[in-house]
Amino acid sequence: MGKRELVILGAGPAGLTAAIYARRSDLDVLVVEKGLAGGQIRITAEIENWPGLVNSTGVGLADSFRRHAEHFNTEFLTAEIKGLRLEGDRKVVTTSAGDIEAEAVIVATGASFRRLGCPGEDRFIGCGVSFCAVCDAEFFVDEIVAVVGGGNTAVEEAIYLTRFAKKVYIIHRRDEFRADPLVRRRAAGNEKLVPVLDSVVTSIEGEDLVERVLVQNVKTGATTPLEVAGVFMFVGTQPHTDFLGGLLERSEGGWLATDRRLATSVPGIFAAGDVRDTPLRQVVTAAADGALAAMSAYHYLENQR
Ligand SMILES: Cc1cc2nc3c(=O)[nH]c(=O)nc-3n(C[C@H](O)[C@H](O)[C@H](O)COP(=O)(O)OP(=O)(O)OC[C@H]3O[C@@H](n4cnc5c(N)ncnc54)[C@H](O)[C@@H]3O)c2cc1C
Repeated sequence: MGKRELVILGAGPAGLTAAIYARRSDLDVLVVEKGLAGGQIRITAEIENWPGLVNSTGVGLADSFRRHAEHFNTEFLTAEIKGLRLEGDRKVVTTSAGDIEAEAVIVATGASFRRLGCPGEDRFIGCGVSFCAVCDAEFFVDEIVAVVGGGNTAVEEAIYLTRFAKKVYIIHRRDEFRADPLVRRRAAGNEKLVPVLDSVVTSIEGEDLVERVLVQNVKTGATTPLEVAGVFMFVGTQPHTDFLGGLLERSEGGWLATDRRLATSVPGIFAAGDVRDTPLRQVVTAAADGALAAMSAYHYLENQR
């Protein structure tokens, strides 16, 4: 597959923005992506927080990012990334279409939310099932919603949702939340939060939009319907980094550790977007990371010469 100055792994908002910045700096760039360019926003119905566009479909925004990268003659390879290894200063990316040698690499392979796997979950994504309160809370003003999970993220996001929804159930399979005591205390003082403990969601139901969840008590086996307009899943997120093995330093949870220029623990390898250890995972932060990682890669390559 030859040699490249910069290989970008993943064509989500981070990878595509990195490609735009790197091509405008006249780098020789290849973007490797196993699916359609755009990343997670392709499965997002609406985006309302990308600055400059009050409202866009996820697919529409994804396609405009791809067209923007193509406008600067970015080259794409459709292939699955299988590995990344070092050979001296060179980086070798192993893909289902062969090996590519790179002087610098940006890892922008994103992350995915763990799914519950219950009936209705996939069908209602974007129609009441959400994985992001910041993205979707506004669609549930004065509605009743459910949050699934019991860790810090679940409880904090449930508290956030009470600013919009009139009632928020927090459904958790254990008899108490795993969240830190401070977070639990904040939740306990919020009258809109209704804990549903010892319980799991067995099904999500509705016609075109979510109308109810079926909740089973794990101790009694009894199943109860809860009328809700939305279900927010916070049962974990995982970075897409299996192909890296032990190559790069990680933080807790497996996220890639970076410095403020988005350099990883290996010189010449940068990380951008949801895959890295970052406090906010959004399109706008992924795009900003992509820009910074591309410019850091550019300066790294300049310094090598
Ligand atoms: C349902 C949903 C709704 C959301 N709503 C919003 C919203 O309204 N506003 C907002 O700002 N954010 C929203 N987000 C979050 C936003 O989509 C992400 O923060 C953003 O897409 C992260 O961009 P990224 O480029 O870092 O990663 P991703 O978008 O995850 O892109 C990574 C890319 O890498 C590719 N890849 C991964 N592994 C491999 C491999 N081994 N080989 C080849 N390719 C690989 C993937 O196919 C993917 O295309 C939402 C997310 C979801 C899931």
